[in-house]
Parts: sequence; C-alpha cells; structure tokens
Amino acid sequence: MKYIGAHVTTQGGVFNAPVNAKAIGATAFAMFTKNQRQWQAPAYTDETITKFREALAECGYAPEVVLPHDGYLINMGNADAAKRKRSLDAFIDELTRCQQLGLTLLNMHPGSHLREISEDDCLTLISDCINHSLEVTEGVTVVLENTAGQGSNMGYCFEHLATIIERVDDTSRIGVCLDTCHSFSAGYDLRTEEACNATFKAFDDIVGFEYLRGMHINDSKTPFESRKDRHHSLGEGSIPMTAFEYIMRDPRFDDIPLILETVDDTIWPDEIKMLKGFAGV
Ligand SMILES: [Zn+2]
Ligand SMILES: [Zn+2]
Repeated sequence: MKYIGAHVTTQGGVFNAPVNAKAIGATAFAMFTKNQRQWQAPAYTDETITKFREALAECGYAPEVVLPHDGYLINMGNADAAKRKRSLDAFIDELTRCQQLGLTLLNMHPGSHLREISEDDCLTLISDCINHSLEVTEGVTVVLENTAGQGSNMGYCFEHLATIIERVDDTSRIGVCLDTCHSFSAGYDLRTEEACNATFKAFDDIVGFEYLRGMHINDSKTPFESRKDRHHSLGEGSIPMTAFEYIMRDPRFDDIPLILETVDDTIWPDEIKMLKGFAGV
C-alpha cells in the first residue's frame, strides 16, 4: 500500500496537522513538532497532546505514516562542543515531543562540518549524538534524510548514511528518508527507468531498503548534479514524471510515508491525486 501526503502546517497547534492533511486527501503527512526556526518552544500541555492523539485517530492516520521533520537550526556535526550540545539538547527535545504525541519517526538532516573538520570526523560526531539521544528517549526512530550536498552539508551520498548507521548502536531505531530532489541534485540520476534502477540498486547495496522509512517526493528547480536544494512542483522541474511514476509503482516504496515538499501548496490535492493514480490507490 502507498501512503501519500505532504508536509502540512501546524498553525494554531500541532493537533491541526492531521486535519490539514485529511483536507488535501493525504494518507500520510509530515509536520514540524515546533517552530523550525527557533531553538526554544514551550513544552506541550496535556491538552495539546490529547487533542493531537484524538485528531490523529479521528482522521485515520497510523503513527507510522507521520514523518515529523526536525528544526533547521540543529547541527549535530558541529565541531564546537557548546554549539553541538545545544543541537543535541534541541534534538532530544524533538524526539521527546514525538514520543509524547505517540509518533514513531523523526526525520533529520545529518549535519554540516562547516569546513572545520573532516567529513569522517563529522559523521562520528553525528552518530555519537544520535546514540546519546536514543539512550535517553524511547519508541522513536531517527530517520536520516539525504541532502543535495549544498555548502558543507553531510548526507549527500549513500555512503554517509551507511557510515552513520554503522556507528549507531541501536540499529532498530535508525532509518533513512530519500528526498528525490536532493538525490538528483547530489548526482543520483532519476531521468529514465534504467537510471532509477541504477540509483535504487546503489541505495540497496550501500544502505539497504530495510532502512528506508520514508521518501520526500519533490521535483528540482536546478539541473542534475547542481548540489543545490531547490524544490519544485512535480512536472515543473528537471526530474521527469517517469521517476515519480516509477516510485509509485515499485513495491519497495510500500508502507512508508511518501511526502510532498513541493513549492505550491495550493496544488497539493492535485499532486496527491496524480501520485495516487500512478500507484493505483
Ligand atoms: Zn528535510
Ligand atoms: Zn526533504
């Protein structure tokens, strides 16, 4: 079964996210657990937690089809110990929020070396932070998102994701989310069926489909291998529609949240309907 949705707004409270997702015909969704551009946020009240859990059940979403996204300020690959600690604390807070809401996944960008340390040292800092955050929380799987490789962002190749997973102690609570825009920008071709076969074979060989917990379904404004992170609406950018049809028809992408982060939220209902059509659901 394919579960298809978008990254919806939580304006007015996190409990509005399931309702917003339902309104656009989504069978999965993503959201921020707090303001993604600020370090601090008030803790959830018991009322907020209850309202979220009720809304999730009423709208018919299982926790496994919800893929919360962590905040943009977090960088657990930062060589500066004080700054890394701040990121780790914020990340633990996000995992705790997911746990409180009864959710099972938290999508994160691995981190950046800021040209201060080697890529390998950066991956070690990230996996150390993940190990620590998994020790002090429970029930939530950390989902590493691949990146376009903009600036000094780690996670632009499958080997980075595999190395982090290798260094994480509890592999039952670590997974991966592939973003089609990021993959394409980072140099993983998706322009033909053969290219998709090769890209996902490389993913399976290096990381393994057993770690795939979600997908971000985005077109790219920039050309192949641009190393830029610029999302576009499906069919408007440089990734041909065949790539999205391929993913929707392939059973390796069953039973995980498939999430649009495309730029025009007014056409999400149409994009979701189109993807459902490809998937035959
Ligand atoms: Zn992301
Ligand atoms: Zn993404």
